[in-house]
Amino acid sequence: MKVFDFVIIGGGIAGLAISYFLKEKNILLIDKKGILEGASGAAGAFLFPKIGLKSRYTDFINSSLIFSFKFYEKLRISTHKKGVLLLPRDERDIEKFKNYEKHITLPFKKREGGFFFKDGGFVEVDEIKEKIKSPFLKEEVVEIKKENDLWKINDIYSKNIILATGYENIMKIPYIKIRPVWGERIEIKSEKCKVKNEKLNFDIFYHKNCSIAKVGDKLRIGATHKRNCLECRENEKEAKELIEKAREVINIENYEIVSIKGGQRSASIDYFPVLGNVIDVDKTLKINPKVIKGEFPKEIKYIKGLYIINGMGGRGFSNALMCAKMLKEFIFERKDLGVLDSKRLFIKWARKEGERYINKHMSITNY
Ligand SMILES: Cc1cc2nc3c(=O)[nH]c(=O)nc-3n(C[C@H](O)[C@H](O)[C@H](O)COP(=O)(O)OP(=O)(O)OC[C@H]3O[C@@H](n4cnc5c(N)ncnc54)[C@H](O)[C@@H]3O)c2cc1C
Repeated sequence: MKVFDFVIIGGGIAGLAISYFLKEKNILLIDKKGILEGASGAAGAFLFPKIGLKSRYTDFINSSLIFSFKFYEKLRISTHKKGVLLLPRDERDIEKFKNYEKHITLPFKKREGGFFFKDGGFVEVDEIKEKIKSPFLKEEVVEIKKENDLWKINDIYSKNIILATGYENIMKIPYIKIRPVWGERIEIKSEKCKVKNEKLNFDIFYHKNCSIAKVGDKLRIGATHKRNCLECRENEKEAKELIEKAREVINIENYEIVSIKGGQRSASIDYFPVLGNVIDVDKTLKINPKVIKGEFPKEIKYIKGLYIINGMGGRGFSNALMCAKMLKEFIFERKDLGVLDSKRLFIKWARKEGERYINKHMSITNY
């Protein structure tokens, strides 16, 4: 019987990134759609900084961004690093930008009412697929069981599982709530398209209400905005809405839509990615009954060999790489995951919903 060290469920950028960091191990990546076909296949894959008041979140996003440029460059994946101009969306944003200026840690220049960062670019998913090769199986995971000390995933055995399933919570882990956020990425050809501000051109890319870049003879435009819209599908009406957003920055005339891709990105309730060893909810609640009253748990019990990497938000192509490295170091060196550890969500969840859960007595271990 073949037993893998790790089966990674989900072949988006999160699953693919962790497969890269575990490449010395005996691993298998499984996805029902293919590699980089879920949200990752719909993404514009822009890489750009976050501005805001100084916070752990902004620091994390921008450290991940710098890490991702180095990662892609090491693998000779082009990053089209021409720089990005972040523009305020409206009057309120103009005021916010003024406050943010003193908190910006990456090199920038003030330009045309926004901030220009040289650390801006985008990647092509086909190139990532080409450069990161992992043993792969196209299959939907419909059953996960524990048999003795091994996981049985459909008919495949593994010592460990890494869940990288994006917005789909396939193991129904009660404390990890991941929201879907729908968005679209389109490519258009236009006979006439020019940046509205005559001082600017397509040597750089733009981020306002959407991200816009010129790629060859096409314009790539992408944005994710619709929360919890599970019935959303790619359609021309939404594509046209996206073009209207792009028109705030660019004059677009006589265009032809070349492609429309839609997808659900995943967001945690506090926007940080979710990493680490999955908590055994039943056992942890049993030994820490007061956690539902707000007490900090004295001891947390984990499900052996079950890990997660999820909640990449709107910046999966920069966040996932550093998250994957951190998860690998957590698994093998027990390095602290800090604020990214999924246990933060357990503590919040137990306070809010723990009592109801105990009464219903649903159990993840019965999955
Ligand atoms: C329109 C759009 C534009 C975006 N633009 C950008 C951008 O410019 N820059 C950026 O960095 N990010 C962007 N994002 C966000 C980015 O796409 C996500 O953060 C990232 O793709 C999430 O990766 P993931 O691996 O977590 O999830 P996914 O890519 O969704 O991968 C999860 C995978 O799990 C698989 N799966 C689920 N259940 C099962 C099962 N039971 N069995 C087998 N397989 C299963 C799915 O098929 C899927 O392929 C955008 C997203 C969208 C939708």
